[in-house]
Amino acid sequence: MITAKARAVDGPDTPFREAEINRRDLDTNDVLIEIKFAGICHSDIHTAHGEWGEVNYPLVPGHEIAGFVTEVGAEVTKYKVGDRVGVGCMVDSCGECVNCQKGEEQYCLKGNVPTYAGVDKYGEPTQGGYSTHIVVTEDFVVRIPDNIELDAAAPLLCAGITTYSPLQHWGAGPGKKVAVVGMGGLGHMAVKIAHAMGAEVTVLSQSLSKKEDGLEFGAKDYYATKDPETFQKLAGTFDLIINTVSAKIDMDAYFSLLTLDGTLVNVGAPAEPLEVNVFSLIGHRRSFAGSMIGGIRQTQEMLDFCAEHNIAPKIEVISADQIDEAYKRVLASDVKYRFVIDTSTI
Ligand code: NAP
Ligand code: ZN
Repeated sequence: MITAKARAVDGPDTPFREAEINRRDLDTNDVLIEIKFAGICHSDIHTAHGEWGEVNYPLVPGHEIAGFVTEVGAEVTKYKVGDRVGVGCMVDSCGECVNCQKGEEQYCLKGNVPTYAGVDKYGEPTQGGYSTHIVVTEDFVVRIPDNIELDAAAPLLCAGITTYSPLQHWGAGPGKKVAVVGMGGLGHMAVKIAHAMGAEVTVLSQSLSKKEDGLEFGAKDYYATKDPETFQKLAGTFDLIINTVSAKIDMDAYFSLLTLDGTLVNVGAPAEPLEVNVFSLIGHRRSFAGSMIGGIRQTQEMLDFCAEHNIAPKIEVISADQIDEAYKRVLASDVKYRFVIDTSTI
């Protein structure tokens, strides 16, 4: 057993505390990673607060992990000690079902093993990246390109891939008008990636307070959704809308912004069901879709794409003692644009 230092919560309303957790001894295909940085995703907050259903506490969240390989199992071929690597939202899957075979392990028919709040193939609860070390089978580890700093790499492992995947799947590119709803962690990555793919990008944020940043990230336009005129002005405009909002919003208002055959993809995952008036879809043959992270192969592709296009998230590095405060700020939409924990402070 390997002992790692971590930060854990004991219940939906408790603050983070220091903890020690066990990581399994290396199996033949496992790598041991010394975690250097871990991003704070809004999903960590939904989960830690028990909003998505029952959680087995104590819980160590964190699925935006960047660090170094410090040990490899006997049969590991892809990585060696010293490699710069990342781990995202899942650490295993069945590998055999039709979806795993396609490289879409996130949609494993038997359910992927989430990086935290899951149960691994040994029957042990999984614990995430707010910790000093993690053991992961090499197939669920990705390589971080040399020109991406480790602290900036961490958020790409969830915020990056969760936005890259639908943008690519629904063909964001030259000639396409893409709107991004909500400019937090996922949203700001969606703006940067869609812009790099060649699409014309518009941000739909609650207010204009982050407009300057949005334009700098690559948006052409930036509108406040609290202004009703926005919806009149932009009716029927977008081929693709990526909704990253973590709360329930008026979906019909956003469907009205789609073109004929346009698609709104929800990546935001509020606990509360979203209401849909089907007439907002029927009227212009519009689609309402969802998308969850991305497969391992695509995650590597996204990292290489970001390296090639010099894309990195805008981050605020914090110490482990600031996690509770960071959660409060994320909930208040006061994040620019991702908090990343320096795990040496754990
Ligand atoms: P975040 O940093 O908190 O960003 C969410 C943004 O949504 C906020 O910055 C804010 O943007 C907007 N927003 C928040 N509350 C709102 C409200 N009541 N009304 C309108 N807009 C609101 O969160 P994140 O880490 O990007 O995650 C976003 C969501 O995606 C979460 O629900 C998370 O669980 C989910 N997620 C899903 C996947 C997946 O695989 N599908 C992966 C990761 C995360 P403005 O300030 O610009 O308005
Ligand atoms: Zn996430």
